[in-house]
Amino acid sequence: MIPRQPVFFLAHGDPMNALRDNTFTRSLTTLGNSLDVKPSAVVMISAHWLSRGTFVSATDPLETIHDFGGFPDELYQVTYPARGLPGLAERIASMIPDVRIDGSRGLDHGAWTVLKHLFPNADIPIVSLSIEYGKPQQSYIDIGEILRPLRDENILIIGSGNIAHNVGMYFSKDSDEPFDWAVSFDTFVRDSLIAKDIAALINYESLKDTAHKAHPTNDHLLPLFHTLGASYPEDPVAFTYEEVVRSMSMRCVRFG
Ligand code: ZN
Repeated sequence: MIPRQPVFFLAHGDPMNALRDNTFTRSLTTLGNSLDVKPSAVVMISAHWLSRGTFVSATDPLETIHDFGGFPDELYQVTYPARGLPGLAERIASMIPDVRIDGSRGLDHGAWTVLKHLFPNADIPIVSLSIEYGKPQQSYIDIGEILRPLRDENILIIGSGNIAHNVGMYFSKDSDEPFDWAVSFDTFVRDSLIAKDIAALINYESLKDTAHKAHPTNDHLLPLFHTLGASYPEDPVAFTYEEVVRSMSMRCVRFG
């Protein structure tokens, strides 16, 4: 019998993490190695694929998209040559209402910078699901819930974002010392996840100034809602990495 796969919410942060060997990147490799069975596919929801309407990538092979500017040349040389799985993409399109197929989308850096450490051999096919920006939080949870049964088919669901993410403030600081509001938002999310207080997470904007500083736009928080929907109430919650660097939380979460 195939064991049920867990669900991951992974931080990605600065794209240079793709090239780094540090406690964060090593925690991803450890997490990949911790799976009892190698997944037959990954469904990836990255904060860097925002769209009008929701799309699922039925592309194979997958191009590595270098969707950033101003980084050293060596980062543009990195590729993650994973295959796609159009059959699974078509199935997902049939499961979720109003989801359309995209036949050209590759892997953005929200996906490949973490996958490179998680599954360095790039030997697991990836299907990406876009995020229709600006919908109610509950709608992302609903999509995650529809994907949830795939976990019993040896499919790993991953959300890639950051629990606190303020790029402007990130570059305003010389030291890696965290901002108080970034720590306080990260702690709120941690405690809400431990308490399984989904309502508090949906209503995160009640934290007002703290929430707005942690997420001037909330794209990097949204994949957390997909992963919440894909998790079962009885799933244990584990934090496989915890750190707040300046304005960015690098917290990673494993459900199940
Ligand atoms: Zn990002």
